[in-house]
Amino acid sequence: MQDYQMYIDGKWCDAESGERFPSANPYTGLDWARFPKASASDVDRAVQAAHMAFTEGDWPRWTASARGAALVRLAGLITENSDKLAEIEVRDNGKLFAEMSNQCRYMANWYAYYGGLADKVEGSVPPIDKPGVVNMITYEPLGVCALITPWNSPLLLLAWKLAPALAAGNTVVIKPSEYTSASTLELMRLVEQAGIPAGVVNVITGFGTEAGMPLVTHPLVRKIAFTGGEAAGRAINEAAARDFKKVTLELGGKSPNIVFDDADLDAAVPGAISGIFAASGQTCIAGSRLLLQDSIYDEFVDRLTDMTRAAVLGDPMDPATNISPVATKAQHEKILSYIDIAKAEGATCILGGNAAQPEGSGGYFVEPTIFTDVRNDMRIAQEEVFGPVLSILRFHDEDEAVRIGNDTNYGLAAGVWTNDLTRALRMSRRMQAGTVWVNTYRSTSYTTPFGGIKNSGLGRENGMEAIKEYLQPKSIWLAEPQAVSNPFIRR
Ligand code: NAD
Repeated sequence: MQDYQMYIDGKWCDAESGERFPSANPYTGLDWARFPKASASDVDRAVQAAHMAFTEGDWPRWTASARGAALVRLAGLITENSDKLAEIEVRDNGKLFAEMSNQCRYMANWYAYYGGLADKVEGSVPPIDKPGVVNMITYEPLGVCALITPWNSPLLLLAWKLAPALAAGNTVVIKPSEYTSASTLELMRLVEQAGIPAGVVNVITGFGTEAGMPLVTHPLVRKIAFTGGEAAGRAINEAAARDFKKVTLELGGKSPNIVFDDADLDAAVPGAISGIFAASGQTCIAGSRLLLQDSIYDEFVDRLTDMTRAAVLGDPMDPATNISPVATKAQHEKILSYIDIAKAEGATCILGGNAAQPEGSGGYFVEPTIFTDVRNDMRIAQEEVFGPVLSILRFHDEDEAVRIGNDTNYGLAAGVWTNDLTRALRMSRRMQAGTVWVNTYRSTSYTTPFGGIKNSGLGRENGMEAIKEYLQPKSIWLAEPQAVSNPFIRR
């Protein structure tokens, strides 16, 4: 059992109460680490440290270039340590080592990209309609930002927030998921080595209501960046609105993956599988509704089922494993209950549908599960399962595909498989989603904006524009001394 400490003001510390909570390895089902259980007083300590670092000390005096250089150093350290970080992620969330090791290496790009961008955010001097006056627009950091992350890709989703927040000159308090706190704490050793001053990055560990909500409502926190479930996102948005705080919310989806009869099925079949069964379906962008055009329906379902049936469930550290456990016991129960709901609603389970227990594991496996005869108004087609459960729907023509695809409260992503270029362009425009992939699925990059519409969230992460989510414009007016003819009239 490994005992971790929180990271506040550059020091490792316990919760004031001395309480701890355990974290289980999803593959074995056994606890492997314990973390301090933060409450409001610990949150206050962390936010005060971040506020001091923002207002006093070295950080506010660093040039944008110096901040950028530190982020580039951090990128290098992450690259050097990516396998070590990936191993910790796997122990905490059970995802495949092959995927997490790729992800941790790739994640370094966010720090390099925003490191490079730090000294390229330029203000402006608009031509102003007042004689003898210069108006300058500068961009300033917001202050203390709360970064709240989920368990499915803890370090990557943190990078999407931490890199632009620091590049913009903010300080932060991070609250990782109570299920996956270890990797974020390990990252702090690299943050220190990169030379980022104490207090600029702080981590508290604990639960949503006891630690997350006091962080959101702390009066010195000016922005909340959150990835997670819709319920927590709504609670955070409401609380933030009361004090006029900025938010970025990334809340998941029920994304349609639409295959037309002119698609290259050799690409579309593995594309559909990667959309839902990679990461055991625990991604916000999961293509959990597969829409198949009538004329290819039977062939596609057969090929998809055969390929999925061959997937190997097992130890996430074993390169031969394709499907690893889901991250938590609660998630395991939730997925199985959705399978029951789908059956009760009249959907037909043509593959999987049960908990699984590969030899040697005591953890939380669910068989890759495929439902046909799904109607789009069923709960299995409308609610986010966040597990390896695919709903297949049938459509006749493009209009029907668009109608079914958009008929959801979510709008995070959509996939379209077609070899018709004009249809690809039309569908890209018609799908109500923050991201549309054509003839690919699950691609994201540090260079391109990511986020949702409708209940999938607010704001965008990644790309050049995302740094503005951590900045606020200021107008500065410089006037030549001039006689004020009438001080009671606005100039
Ligand atoms: P969650 O939304 O409850 O938790 C995500 C993070 O928010 C955690 O750090 C948690 O401690 C914190 N949190 C929870 N409630 C909070 C509150 N009221 N105030 C402040 N912080 C709070 O996610 P979960 O319980 O881990 O999973 C619930 C569901 O969310 C999943 O079943 C899945 O559908 C969805 N989910 C989505 C994503 C995504 O990438 N969009 C990621 C994880 C989970």
